[in-house]
Amino acid sequence: MSWFDCVELGPPIEVFQLTRQFTEDDFPQKVNLGVGAYRTDEGKPWVLPVVRTAEKALANDETLNKEYLPVLGLETFSAASSRMLLGADSAAIAENRAFGVQTLSGTGALRVGAEFLARHLDKTVFYFSKPTWENHRLVFLNAGFKEAREYRYWHPESRALDIEGLLEDLRNAPEGAVVILHACAHNPTGCDPSHEQWAQIADVVKQKRLFPFFDSAYQGFASGDLDKDAWAVRFFVERGFEIFCAQSYAKNFGLYNERTGNLTVVSSNLANVAAAKSQLTLTIRGMYSNPPSHGARIVAHVLNNKELFEQWRGNIKTMSSRIIEMRKRLREALEALGTPGSWNHITDQIGMFSYTGLNEAQSLHMVQKHHVYMLKSGRISMCGLTPTNVGYVAQSIHETLT
Ligand code: PLP
Repeated sequence: MSWFDCVELGPPIEVFQLTRQFTEDDFPQKVNLGVGAYRTDEGKPWVLPVVRTAEKALANDETLNKEYLPVLGLETFSAASSRMLLGADSAAIAENRAFGVQTLSGTGALRVGAEFLARHLDKTVFYFSKPTWENHRLVFLNAGFKEAREYRYWHPESRALDIEGLLEDLRNAPEGAVVILHACAHNPTGCDPSHEQWAQIADVVKQKRLFPFFDSAYQGFASGDLDKDAWAVRFFVERGFEIFCAQSYAKNFGLYNERTGNLTVVSSNLANVAAAKSQLTLTIRGMYSNPPSHGARIVAHVLNNKELFEQWRGNIKTMSSRIIEMRKRLREALEALGTPGSWNHITDQIGMFSYTGLNEAQSLHMVQKHHVYMLKSGRISMCGLTPTNVGYVAQSIHETLT
């Protein structure tokens, strides 16, 4: 008899299971389009050169030690992060109504923010896009939210945003509900609202007094331009909304395993900032006490140094350009093969992922027959494509659809 006899086996996490299957597969032409991590043209992980430079400088800096960081993290990191998100000329920052809290990557920012909202604003209902990053539901429910609801997002027939469905679902939301909005490069569809559509979304958020919680996991990584990728967040803040925004440095700095993130908080009233900070401190204190320093020091070192900042912008341009090039090549290859259907969505979509339009059976066929590992939803990570394997992937899609 064990205390654990009563514990039921939980379901596997699809993306990690897929990586395991991929690793165990000895087929020479296998391709991993599952996991969302950048790869070079040679299919290798990439440590950004600017990160190597920063790490060397930090290793040689004898003034640094291994003492605890404050509960809210490294101030030079969180302030620079919020500035990068909201813009150097942000009124919210100038008026001290905005601040950042260092977190355990983007997931940690969502978790801390959600727990704060559940605990201190008595929020119970949250909305996420259908489909969304598969972790939103679990993070918010574990943080104390009671009810997960979806708003329509993807229109399968047109392979585009279902703006009417989205607006209708948010119009029917209970007043005060929290709505998770992808800041840019929507995961998994790669399809973002236009500026006009964001304005329509903002109108409904205002009308229904919803709380916008942005998730920014791809700033700079999506278009190669930090400002462009922050447009939606800045638009909401300039319109006077109070927001939370979870920021991740996993993709744009390649710091996946350093768990480096930031929760940017924008309040409309400076008088509320001290109390909010004090409660966020207690939330984190009761969760993991204080964050690790290595990744935050790297990011702070780069964001606060003009020359390194420019180098970093070059590095994110390298990554985003490679992805854009792979989108082009995949589309061209499918069109050249005459694969049934239209393929413009591959180049219209933005960011790390593409929603191919393949259904579950077709996606499984890609894995089982062709050893091209992709999610059941038809999502592929563009980073897994290389000049060497894009032809094979296109051939495999073609065979699957004909
Ligand atoms: N949000 C979205 C939409 C993501 O795609 C990801 C990562 O894939 C995250 C948040 C969080 O990532 P991390 O916790 O690694 O920063």
